[in-house]
Amino acid sequence: MFQKDLLKWYAQSARPLVFREKKDAYSIWISEIMAQQTRIEAMLPYYERFIREIPDIQSLAYAGEDQLTKLWQGLGYYSRVRNMKKCARVCMEKYEGKLPHTKKELEKLPGIGSYTAGAIASIAYDEKVSAVDGNVIRVFSRLYNIQEDVRSTKVRKRIESLVENSLADPVSQYNQALMELGALICIPKNPRCSNCPIQHHCTAFLEGEPALLPIQTKKKERKKENKTFYILVCKDRIHLKKRPDTGLLAGLYGFDEKKPDRIYKQIELKKYTHVFSHIEWKMQGFVCQVEPMDQDFYTIDQIEKQFSIPSAFLPFYKQTKKIIEEEKDARDRY
Ligand code: SF4
Repeated sequence: MFQKDLLKWYAQSARPLVFREKKDAYSIWISEIMAQQTRIEAMLPYYERFIREIPDIQSLAYAGEDQLTKLWQGLGYYSRVRNMKKCARVCMEKYEGKLPHTKKELEKLPGIGSYTAGAIASIAYDEKVSAVDGNVIRVFSRLYNIQEDVRSTKVRKRIESLVENSLADPVSQYNQALMELGALICIPKNPRCSNCPIQHHCTAFLEGEPALLPIQTKKKERKKENKTFYILVCKDRIHLKKRPDTGLLAGLYGFDEKKPDRIYKQIELKKYTHVFSHIEWKMQGFVCQVEPMDQDFYTIDQIEKQFSIPSAFLPFYKQTKKIIEEEKDARDRY
């Protein structure tokens, strides 16, 4: 009977989040996709800007790729925004510009997995379905003191079925209450059990050690790769190179990996490591003064207005910008 206590707590303690103000499927979808890899507080400014510029499915379906990547800059995992556009196209073609109403149909759309489909269907359309994300898995593994690896399919399925069987009315509030409890109280390290509205129902709190749950086997170590980039500069303009359509940072703008034939001056940049979910790039970079080669050289102003530089390349971009600005200052002075 923890549901009643949970719902009561949620009614009193839910954060006033802009995308929860109205039961609008589009807003819920965008916010859920953005929140997949980013804390809610950090993603809010991105969310507000995105909704202002792309207010509905129709505008998303026809938005330019560069506009979308610019709006997504800083959130990373750009395939999410590309999938959102694909999904919007399907909605225009098959669902009259709306998101379908059931979890089952939503799950068939590009980029919408079981959790997001459950969140949209239950919060926007009151369908009585679960929305199980990492937060909810953590809460349930503690609530039921589950001493098995939650990364295993068997355990995950067991938790999903426990959540499914626990669904309470109103389901939109119940699912959000579980997410909120996982985000604010039943947090990964040092859960705040003394402030928890369901502590009297929690088996790990009563009998075990909540902070040791959920049990998760170690992920495979990330692969490490050495990467060298050449940031070509000509007359205070930087060369941007569109990356291939497949692979890491597909279709985004970065720098050249091939050393140019003629370099007038070369400056080595500070090295760093960029970490992706499954791979690490040990980054080495050189600013190379070159002759103009093609049209794809841009001023700092153009780059900042028109392009989105992926975070993997930002440290090189910032160092190059500083070099260009310092050299320009020196020229102006003499
Ligand atoms: S009592 Fe502690 S471990 Fe149990 S649900 Fe609440 S915060 Fe999580």
